[in-house]
Amino acid sequence: MTTDEHRFERDNDPYRDIELQPFGPPSDLATELGSNLMPEVVNHPGTRTPPPEMFSKFSGIIGDRAAILVAVEFLTRREASPWAVLVVAFNDDPQPPADLTKYERVFTSAGAGTMNMVDFFADMSHGKLDLSGTQVFGPYLMSRPRSDYVFNVDPQPPGKLNRAGLLELAKATAIARGVDLSSFAGVVVCGTQPTDLCGFTGAMAALCDATNMQPSVIGQEMCHGYGVAHSRLQGSDADYQDPYDTMSTANALMAYHPEYGLVGPGLNAVNMSLVGWLDQARVRTLDPSRPGEEVITLRPLHARHLPGTLAISVGLDLIEFRTPTRWDAGIGHACVLVHRVDDDHSVLMKGLNPVPELTLYRPDLPHTLETGRPGGLYSEYLRVQVESIDEANENAVVRVAYEPMRLPQTPQQPIDIHGAIEVDGPGHLVINGHVHPIPPRGPDRQLVEALADYLDTPTNPAARQEALIEVLHGVGAAARNLEVVSPTPPGIELLQRQRPPQSPA
Ligand SMILES: [Zn+2]
Repeated sequence: MTTDEHRFERDNDPYRDIELQPFGPPSDLATELGSNLMPEVVNHPGTRTPPPEMFSKFSGIIGDRAAILVAVEFLTRREASPWAVLVVAFNDDPQPPADLTKYERVFTSAGAGTMNMVDFFADMSHGKLDLSGTQVFGPYLMSRPRSDYVFNVDPQPPGKLNRAGLLELAKATAIARGVDLSSFAGVVVCGTQPTDLCGFTGAMAALCDATNMQPSVIGQEMCHGYGVAHSRLQGSDADYQDPYDTMSTANALMAYHPEYGLVGPGLNAVNMSLVGWLDQARVRTLDPSRPGEEVITLRPLHARHLPGTLAISVGLDLIEFRTPTRWDAGIGHACVLVHRVDDDHSVLMKGLNPVPELTLYRPDLPHTLETGRPGGLYSEYLRVQVESIDEANENAVVRVAYEPMRLPQTPQQPIDIHGAIEVDGPGHLVINGHVHPIPPRGPDRQLVEALADYLDTPTNPAARQEALIEVLHGVGAAARNLEVVSPTPPGIELLQRQRPPQSPA
């Protein structure tokens, strides 16, 4: 690494002055939400660090070509995605305080550079999403009592509010106060008292409250709005099984942030890719259609401020490197992960390993992961081997070997029917290069014709069934035809007993 690259890293390392404490996976988080595990957000005005002085440092790095490319790329990729945050209370809740500072710090550019939601989405979208236009409105006292709220009940009972009902009531309340929600990409409803925590998948809406508006879980709920689903672990259809992913924050490795509570972990590469946030210009794509092996240096997945490769793509798999810093401060140690796309879900792969992460920090933990069988028999083969990890300089060297799927020698070529089978002449079939004569009449011909009819029949189920019955008749006729040459004719034991002993040929 050159000296310039070192300077580039140090000058641009975001959040380096925030003390983040690993928090670990609270297995009981789901039941504890809203209680003392999720403390009220506390402001520490005296300890806040000013945001990085980007502009004064730009002149210092202007000579670095990679830095210029990153900056240009960042500017051209940006897409405004402001949210309206509606701070609300039920009409029998305590009168909410008028000061909205703590909500603004979490959601808007007022807290940018402190690992708030503006920073989260900028980092997780590789700079594509710009939430700096997010605004907080309220506090609004809604027209209904708290007892009307019935949480996740569908359909909404008469006279009650379910989650969608609360969202609509909050939006109507804000619109009545003159808020133009049409100029926002999404809406977060945030209760001043313990209310709820959820996201509306693909609908750009989320519910939360002052006790749980922490970047880790809010990140998950707002990601749902963009269409991101919960993450899974290889071998299971259960949600929340990827400790290294925002979309598993019921079971994920989070970190404690002095102002906001829980932050991280970051979004995995497959989830980023599924919603178009993974910067393909920073992905090294390998061609899985032919065997290959490459040694590639990876940067941490979310460290777009560093030059280099942020992920490796092989077929349905994405390989990423994560370090226990920034959003991933809770993951404990640097590791390489492999995720696979499975419909709209990300699946953390582990192959035959006991744990999914690949590390070098303990010899008893795996540093190689294999999926499929060497040679690619029946499914493509992938081997990821960690050659080195340099946590301080934020890079990992991985060796990636892959082979496309191949099938054993089976009749794969199309069947060619030659000759006038259908006009009573002899013909032949060619299957996989072998010629099979078809007699002009008899059960063989009946079977071949029935099969041809079946393959020609349109997908109408009744017609297919009729054609299939004809195939079965053909099979029956062919089987009856075989009976005279059955390998085990009745009475074979008697015949064998009567046969004189044979000398070897
Ligand atoms: Zn969720």
